[in-house]
Amino acid sequence: MFEPTGTPDPFWSKVQKSDGCWTWAGATWGRGYGAFKHEGRQVYAHRFAWEMAKGPIPAGLFVCHHCDNPLCVRPDHLFLGTHTDNMRDASRKGRLYGWHVTHCPRGHEYTPENTIRVQWGKYVRRSCRSCEKQRGRLAYRVKAADPAWRAKQAERGRASRARMKAQGAP
Ligand SMILES: [Zn+2]
Ligand SMILES: [Zn+2]
Repeated sequence: MFEPTGTPDPFWSKVQKSDGCWTWAGATWGRGYGAFKHEGRQVYAHRFAWEMAKGPIPAGLFVCHHCDNPLCVRPDHLFLGTHTDNMRDASRKGRLYGWHVTHCPRGHEYTPENTIRVQWGKYVRRSCRSCEKQRGRLAYRVKAADPAWRAKQAERGRASRARMKAQGAP
């Protein structure tokens, strides 16, 4: 489980953690699922939690609840299923297959070398290095997930503004 970056946190500040479920206390959407607005888009809170903890959701799969609590966003209460109608069946499948996600949606294995953290708005999520490389944004997004790199960029910005000021620019 990756810790979110920055405070206050729009997502985790709306989650009430307990020893059991981590309950979404924000807005709801559809059939009683948590709704969260991220980067201008409405997303399901439990799907968002899944993507942060485990990585992208393969097309056509649902993020289901072992605990049958639609407001729960605790990653280890979630699993991938092919349908939501038959929860009992999906839950059984999930215990066998869903919890141990070993490959990305395109079939690359999540080995330590192939698993990276990429910046996602103000959050960081797990992703597949092979896929990110194919998307061609790997270098920047991996760099941007590193607080030291961001601090250096900010310092650079400050230095250049100071220089402009010293030269009498408006
Ligand atoms: Zn739960
Ligand atoms: Zn991949």
